[in-house]
Amino acid sequence: MLVSNGNYTDTQDTTFAQKPTHKKTLVTVAKGDGIGEEIMNATLSILEAAKARIDFEEVEIGEKVYKNGHSAGITPETWKSLRKTKVFLKAPITTPQGGGFKSLNVTIRKTLGLYSNVRPCVSYNPYVQTKHPKMDTVIIRENEEDLYAGIEHQQTDEVTQCLKLITSVGTEKIIRYAFEYAKVYNRKKVTCFSKDNIMKITDGLFHKTFDRIGAEYPEIEKEHWIVDIGAAKLATKPEQFDVIVMPNLYGDILSDVAAEITGSVGLAGSANIGDDFAMFEAIHGSAPDIAGKGIANPSGLLLGAVQMLVYIGQADIAEKVQNAWLKTIEDGIHTGDIYNPETSTKKVGTKEFGEAVIERLGQKPTTLKPVEYGRGKSISINVEPTKIAKKELVGVDIFLHWNDTADPTGKKRNANTLGDSLSKAALESNTHLELQMITNRGVKVYPNGFPETFCTDHWRCRFQTQNEEAIDYKEVLKLMNKLNQEGFDIIKTENLCTFDGVRSYSLGQGQ
Ligand code: NAD
Repeated sequence: MLVSNGNYTDTQDTTFAQKPTHKKTLVTVAKGDGIGEEIMNATLSILEAAKARIDFEEVEIGEKVYKNGHSAGITPETWKSLRKTKVFLKAPITTPQGGGFKSLNVTIRKTLGLYSNVRPCVSYNPYVQTKHPKMDTVIIRENEEDLYAGIEHQQTDEVTQCLKLITSVGTEKIIRYAFEYAKVYNRKKVTCFSKDNIMKITDGLFHKTFDRIGAEYPEIEKEHWIVDIGAAKLATKPEQFDVIVMPNLYGDILSDVAAEITGSVGLAGSANIGDDFAMFEAIHGSAPDIAGKGIANPSGLLLGAVQMLVYIGQADIAEKVQNAWLKTIEDGIHTGDIYNPETSTKKVGTKEFGEAVIERLGQKPTTLKPVEYGRGKSISINVEPTKIAKKELVGVDIFLHWNDTADPTGKKRNANTLGDSLSKAALESNTHLELQMITNRGVKVYPNGFPETFCTDHWRCRFQTQNEEAIDYKEVLKLMNKLNQEGFDIIKTENLCTFDGVRSYSLGQGQ
């Protein structure tokens, strides 16, 4: 293993990373759990043999750290190291079962602002068996937002909620990153997946931003798919995709699908890139079922490390390592997970595989396409400052936990009973707010609801001014005070606003 012995660069220009450098770079490294140590040792020995200009500072993360009382599996010493090096090469960890533990990956990504997750998914036909021999797709996933904000609540006896946050700044960053990536890596097309036919405001923002930013890249082909049909096409005809950009949850799921259909999740690496920090890893987990047996495939972590080399300005070493790796795959030297008697020549363990790559350093594949990183790949992102709009308050959605006392079983709750008493309370509140409608799980149930609609104990009650007339928030407080006096159980509120006169809230289904 390489040792940490100085001469590293203190400050790295990581916003505009990937500039060629001949200085040594200090990198934080963690061997994680399960197969982590085996695959990390193989990876580091290849980097050392390739003369990567790197020193490593080793830290401990994962299961042991969780069990020592650190709820996110990471210690203050590791944060200190990451603040210093700004680059993290991380082996997989085992997440302990049970409540109270937070995901280490999500914690690191969000704390360090690693907004972009880049997963190249490539087929290595005919050397690795796959139904999709021509696949070469890069999934670029937004990494910090969406349902992964981790804001969840139980609101009533029956209803739980997870908040989906899509921001204009976060969206612009990831979309710009995807187009810049396509430009720098000579990709021809960027596809966007979203579900804006249903989530018109959140996914709608993602899609609209894609169209707006995409217009700045006339040389790149653009397309958008609703995520369900897009996912189906990705699983059956992946060769039609080049770069795909998507929000966090879809990207989390579909990047695993994409990696698996190339032949094995064990082959894909991933980069988590932020303005000032970056983390590189394999996409698979700690594989406890094969840990300690010396048979794990180190390729995913190695290809993550290759992305790291490009990022820290060592494109020359990245090219040398990846081409040697491609030659090893092409020569049929395979670990058990991709071994196939028809195309493999030798089944090897983790260490032997690493040695086979080292033997081929300086060689290029002959059938598979060699990689070329030239003098490096520099990606820089400039996000436009947020435009402050004229915001006006025109109403409020008040969410109530309400049970119909006439129906203690909860089987046929009568929305009219609730609606009539809320209308009366609003009238008596002496505000400009009137009850406009009530929805249950998004479906309008008052006024004129369908008696067939099943209702839970969670009611969204929309109070608005006539003709969207602007009001002061004091009026909302007055109405809430009145409802509280009447004994209603208020769970939460959402303000109804217009931005520059444009309505910024969804209508109820059936409204
Ligand atoms: P896994 O990816 O660890 O394993 C799934 C299957 O793939 C297993 O059969 C395993 O043997 C095989 N496999 C995975 N990597 C391989 C490799 N390099 N070579 C050969 N075979 C390989 O997924 P899992 O079993 O669901 O999760 C195990 C643990 O890993 C869990 O605690 C999970 O939380 C954690 N995990 C961590 C990360 C991470 O640290 N980034 C990611 C995913 C899962």
